Amino acid sequence: MTIVPIYNKVVLPKAKMFFMTDSFKSVCGTAPQMDENLVFIVVKKSSTWQELTEDSFYPIGVKGKITEVNANGYLVIETTDRVTIDSITIKGMYDIELTLSKRVDIDEMTPDEVQRRFKNVQTKIKELFSQYKWGMMAGSYFAGIQSLAEMVSVMSRWLQNSAEEKYQLLAEDSQTTRTELIEQCIYEYIEITQLTVEAEAEQASDNKKIYRKMAIQKQMKYLQNELDELNPESVSDVRKFEMAIEKSGMNETARKEAEKALNRLKQEGKNSAESGMLYDYLDFITSLSWKKEKAQTIKLKKAEKVLEEEHFGLDKVKKRIIEQIAVMNLKKKQSGSILLFVGAPGTGKTSIGKSIAKALNRKYVRISLGGVRDEADIRGHRRTYIGAMPGRIMDGIQKSGVSNPVVVLDEVDKLSTSYSGDPASALLEVLDPEQNNTFTDHYMNVPYDLSDVLFICTANSFDTIPAPLLNRMEVIQFSGYTQTEKMQIARKHLLRKSMEAMGIQETQIVISDEVLESIIWDYTGEAGVRTLKKRLDTLCRYAAVELARDDTKVIEIKEEDLREKLDMRPVSHEHVLAEKKPGIVTGLAWTQNGGEILFIETLFTKGSGQLLITGQLGDVMKESVRIAVSLVKSMFPDKADLFKENDLHVHVPAGAVPKDGPSAGITLTTAIASLVTGRAVSSDYAMTGEVSLRSVVTPIGGLPEKLMAALRAGVKKVFIPAENVDDLRDVDQEVKDELTIIPVKEVTDVLRETGIITN
Ligand code: ADP
Repeated sequence: MTIVPIYNKVVLPKAKMFFMTDSFKSVCGTAPQMDENLVFIVVKKSSTWQELTEDSFYPIGVKGKITEVNANGYLVIETTDRVTIDSITIKGMYDIELTLSKRVDIDEMTPDEVQRRFKNVQTKIKELFSQYKWGMMAGSYFAGIQSLAEMVSVMSRWLQNSAEEKYQLLAEDSQTTRTELIEQCIYEYIEITQLTVEAEAEQASDNKKIYRKMAIQKQMKYLQNELDELNPESVSDVRKFEMAIEKSGMNETARKEAEKALNRLKQEGKNSAESGMLYDYLDFITSLSWKKEKAQTIKLKKAEKVLEEEHFGLDKVKKRIIEQIAVMNLKKKQSGSILLFVGAPGTGKTSIGKSIAKALNRKYVRISLGGVRDEADIRGHRRTYIGAMPGRIMDGIQKSGVSNPVVVLDEVDKLSTSYSGDPASALLEVLDPEQNNTFTDHYMNVPYDLSDVLFICTANSFDTIPAPLLNRMEVIQFSGYTQTEKMQIARKHLLRKSMEAMGIQETQIVISDEVLESIIWDYTGEAGVRTLKKRLDTLCRYAAVELARDDTKVIEIKEEDLREKLDMRPVSHEHVLAEKKPGIVTGLAWTQNGGEILFIETLFTKGSGQLLITGQLGDVMKESVRIAVSLVKSMFPDKADLFKENDLHVHVPAGAVPKDGPSAGITLTTAIASLVTGRAVSSDYAMTGEVSLRSVVTPIGGLPEKLMAALRAGVKKVFIPAENVDDLRDVDQEVKDELTIIPVKEVTDVLRETGIITN
């Protein structure tokens, strides 16, 4: 009798079971023989022969007999009775000695009952297998099974219960209980199989769905392309955007954002509240240029020619621009330092920006920052706001249609701050080369590279530009034009432009130099040429009407007609006074329109030493008056009584001139000195300079404009602070030729030169 130790297998009495021939050989050490008697004994835990001891076994086994040794490598064994192992001796490898006694079942079932239960389970098994394709084979195999015990031992490998639970089936003495346990095992098996199969089926159907969706999408795209090509007019908006996104070359983040908006548009449909916003957004983001333009090498000669052609004068500005282009060429970059053009209106700041674009062969955009108060104006509104829009910067870039335009940011000095954020700090980010390659407009919500944009800023003055912004920029002054320059600009540029605009030929209108001079002098009062251009436009319009009546005529504009044709009174200029009078001195002021002369008037009236200041002076200028009074008192101690017995009245007329700043110091001092000494200062002298109590004349700003204004007003001699002599380089030669410019260090220098003191 061969002893077969088994582990984790269901062996039951009176059942047919299958055993692999190879396993039999390795467990028993011999080849199986037909009709060989066997005893199955159950090992408690998985072990090798060497590890086995007498305690390794459970106390109940089962007898059996080999009924078939199949050529396909398995044995058929029929088991008979259960046995109790009374004693066990392990003698060596494959050599175990047992004493056994038969173990009887209790609570036996009738054969009918056994059969009935078996049939029930069999029906369930059939049902299970009938549901699946693979079940057919298994079903036919199971159909040959004759008993529950056989069934459960076939299932043995797939049962979820432990080795010990499997042994418990054999150890159970009550046949009824054993049958119930077996049924339970089989039902569990059925449930688990069903669950596993269902889960697998679901997974398979999920995968199938995904593959199917992908295939359909591919197919749709292909068909859609075909359709679009056949019928381009009927392409839907969504489709248009789809194609635009594909073509745009946007970066990954932008593409994702655009696709998100597009999907929303698809879902929401055309008539939803949000669709308009989504439409605008997609339109904006797809019409932006996402392409990086190649840096071109600019021929300096050609660039110089363009600048020269379009603007007269401005030599320093042009030189600086050419330098910038040269540096950009060398560094192979499309942007460089940020230039800030500062000067009065109409001095050509914006238009030279346009010429720079032309010289660089790039697109030009002008973005006006005047009146910008909110950060959102620069950086855009978030799309959650109703009526959200991109900021002015991105809007400008989009309009240019390229990623490297020349952008003129006009009027940076007119930025202001409000409760809704500081636009200047947003602008700082735009201009900062460290940050602007990922500038994120709130509306776009994706970064855009501004590093190839060439920014140029313009301003009328830099007083109101926030310091951090000013630090980023390189200031270039536009100091205004002289009378002669204006004549040249009018002749070479403005008149031609006006005539072109009105459709007039050069031969059809005559404006003599004298007339032009009068237009400039009497009908404009500015540092730039903007009003001049307007006047010329008006005259050309008048000529156009005349020519429309009779185009053979030649229209000649005469000086005496100007008042009527321009429909305005000649501008009244402050002109130097005809007579000189003690206590009145001409000063020079800087204004946004260039320069102006102004008169400082002083007068003693009977009183008690009061100081009266009129003419709406600012605080700094009021202080200058006090410094002037103290200086004069200390310089002319013998006149002390005058100050005690009188009130001193200081008045500054000239309503249009802003009156603050320290530069009238020397004029005030001279005027009061003139008053106390009774010595009048020549009316064609003018002066500018700050003074201190040490009686030193200190430097001022805006010298070129002031000197130009002096010349215009008929001044012959001008006193300027000695420290400003360097600034004379910026002053037009014509102005320097016409004026006698006297640099002064001390107040006494001026008093001596003007004849107030003689020693
Ligand atoms: P700003 O920006 O300084 O206010 P603009 O650039 O708008 O001035 O100039 C106003 C007008 O004057 C433009 O038509 C411009 O072409 C013309 N202009 C200004 N300066 C010159 C110049 N130096 N040569 C030719 N035209 C000029």
